[in-house]
Amino acid sequence: MQHSLATLTTLVQEISDAESAMTAMQTIVARLSQLMDVPVCSLYLKSPTRSKLILAATQGLSKTSVGKIKLGLDEGLVGSIASTKHSLNLADASSHDKFVLFPQAQETTYKQFMGVPLIHLRQLVGVIVVQGKVKKPFSQETEAFLITIASQLAATLSNIQKSGEWIPKRRPGKLYKRFNGIVSSSGIGIGELVHINTHIDLQVEPDKSNSNLEDEQDLFETALQKVIDDLEHGANKIKKDLPEDIISLFSVYRMMLESPELKDGTLDKIQSGNSAMWSVRETAFELAAVFEMADDPYMKARGEDVKNIAIKLMTQMAKHERTTSPDSQTPIILAGDLISIADLSEYNSSQIQGIISTSGSALSHTSIVANALGLPAVMGVSDLDIKRYRGQLSIVDGNRGEVVISPPKEMVREYRLLAKHEQQFNETLAKYKDLPAVTLDGFHVTLHTNTGLLADVSPGLRNGAEGVGLYRSEIPFMVHDNFPTEEEQYQVYKEVIDAYSPRPVSMRTLDIGGDKQLPYFSFKEENPYLGWRGIRFTLDNTALQITQIRAMLRAAHGRDNLQILVPMVSRIDEIKSIKELIQQSLLELKKEGKQVSKPKLGIMIEVPSAMLLLDKVAPYIDFVSIGSNDLTQYLLAVDRNNPKVSSLFDHLHPAVLVALQMIKKKCSELNLPVSLCGEMAADPASVLLLIAMGFDRLSLSAHRIPKIKWLIRQLKREDLLKLLTKANVAEDETEVRKVLSKKIKEFGL
Ligand code: PEP
Ligand code: MG
Repeated sequence: MQHSLATLTTLVQEISDAESAMTAMQTIVARLSQLMDVPVCSLYLKSPTRSKLILAATQGLSKTSVGKIKLGLDEGLVGSIASTKHSLNLADASSHDKFVLFPQAQETTYKQFMGVPLIHLRQLVGVIVVQGKVKKPFSQETEAFLITIASQLAATLSNIQKSGEWIPKRRPGKLYKRFNGIVSSSGIGIGELVHINTHIDLQVEPDKSNSNLEDEQDLFETALQKVIDDLEHGANKIKKDLPEDIISLFSVYRMMLESPELKDGTLDKIQSGNSAMWSVRETAFELAAVFEMADDPYMKARGEDVKNIAIKLMTQMAKHERTTSPDSQTPIILAGDLISIADLSEYNSSQIQGIISTSGSALSHTSIVANALGLPAVMGVSDLDIKRYRGQLSIVDGNRGEVVISPPKEMVREYRLLAKHEQQFNETLAKYKDLPAVTLDGFHVTLHTNTGLLADVSPGLRNGAEGVGLYRSEIPFMVHDNFPTEEEQYQVYKEVIDAYSPRPVSMRTLDIGGDKQLPYFSFKEENPYLGWRGIRFTLDNTALQITQIRAMLRAAHGRDNLQILVPMVSRIDEIKSIKELIQQSLLELKKEGKQVSKPKLGIMIEVPSAMLLLDKVAPYIDFVSIGSNDLTQYLLAVDRNNPKVSSLFDHLHPAVLVALQMIKKKCSELNLPVSLCGEMAADPASVLLLIAMGFDRLSLSAHRIPKIKWLIRQLKREDLLKLLTKANVAEDETEVRKVLSKKIKEFGL
């Protein structure tokens, strides 16, 4: 028996290459039976709709019993393994009191029996069983192997199990595939899958031979110029949809294309007798390797850019056209390992319905652009083999971070309906734009917007935001290639401050660290969320902090609506220090003859210590804003970006509710205005409780404002107080949600 990792890797590869769920499962049982040298290996999956375990695939038992053998969740040995979620290793199955014989399976000759439960994220997926003829338990080594295999296969099998496509008797239809990725930009997109960069596979080394030096050189130089021209043309085409700082990313591409490292590096190789194709690829790999050695994800992403550029050059040189080139009206989903803004610009912006990236993260350029354009996007869909599915109808579910390929008609209908309802509902909400967010019994809530991209300015105003509750200043920093200068920052901030004047704008000082890294200031930490983040970083980099404060103060000239908000505060001396820097900047700017005025100052309450220090911090500040995302993360010790513990991350956890009520009460005593700007403010169920708690300022993404306003205008705070009393005695977030669900359903949410 080969227990090596390689064995497992091959098996996983075979499964992902399988044409259908049934083939994948049959591959599993056949390969396991061979690897473990056992005559029988069977896979039972739990029905997604009924409390039954169904034989889904077998090697060794009668194939005709697949889909026919069904057991209750505590029936027989398999059922017993499912109900106890514990493996069984028996010398003789038939002598166990739970044994049930299924004659149609023809298993009478087998004695040895071992079954291991398949569990994914605490949910039972099924049971995997091996059987042998000898009358003794399987060895410890074999048991350990099956347990390991079961845990490795559970995620894949869970996807198959949930789809229900493996259950016989269903109308044989085209099988669909569902893939999970990282939520990047919300919404639902449906369209034909277009594979970006289909022709050039950078992993395949092109022919190195060079027939004619001049021809090869000419080929490269012509391609280079064409790619530069296309890029320029593309940038102009989508310019109107994008903010200036995103457009500037085009110049990053252009700089790379025109860099001597790429151009001369390639020409040198051509002159040494190599083909243009080979030389471009080789040079790109050399340059990408330098970027990829960097620790921070943003810098690594530049390696992707170089490879992307090489693909474009090679595609141009090969004069290949993309095979999948739908007409300009067909709705499309762009999918690729690396999707650049240049790729987006090749299509009609109205045609692109969504984006899938098999690598990428929520911080990648593609993700930032998708958000700015309001396109649904899912990043990091690493299991998706795009070339296999190009041209197929696909769904991008940006709300759940899921991709469905070749969905059945009913599913498409459902998703279309969902998207349509969402759109129609949003359209009907337009009429609330200028109405106040006030409950039926007169409790007024001020709704502000969270923003960061310049492109966000108009959605906030369009959706009736009464100000900016959170301006995430790190986003403009992240899309630049150096620290933006005071002048550059001034221009960006001024645009927001002017657009919202006289409404207040809470500009948060740079909150980098954690998962937010700057490409030009990378540092690695063992535990970044507890490290050099937010105010800790900016106070230590005093010049940087002063530059930002100066830019903010100058941008507010003549408007008087600036409020400075400080992230990640955990100590009183941090707020004293930032106050001093603001004071110093005011004095210096005045000395320079600039007219500036003192802004209001607030802190984010995200670290539990800040919440406990409110009495002491109050004399130094004018307001507080609760960052419920981080407050939840730090109160519960649950990493907000770690999918393994994402089920534990819930802002309705009773401890968070206690904390919120404590903060509200304390702020009322101290007469300190308090708002809440985490994702909680956009979650209808949470809003019910927040209003009951007395929160009258919320800040949320622009496109979520209308729905929350619509909800608030139908509520009676009096009813919500009763809900809060019930929620306060709940033991966990599930119970809290149960308390709220009836009310939420009343509104069809
Ligand atoms: C928060 O932590 O809730 C918050 C609004 O800040 P960010 O999500 O930017 O960390
Ligand atoms: Mg935060």
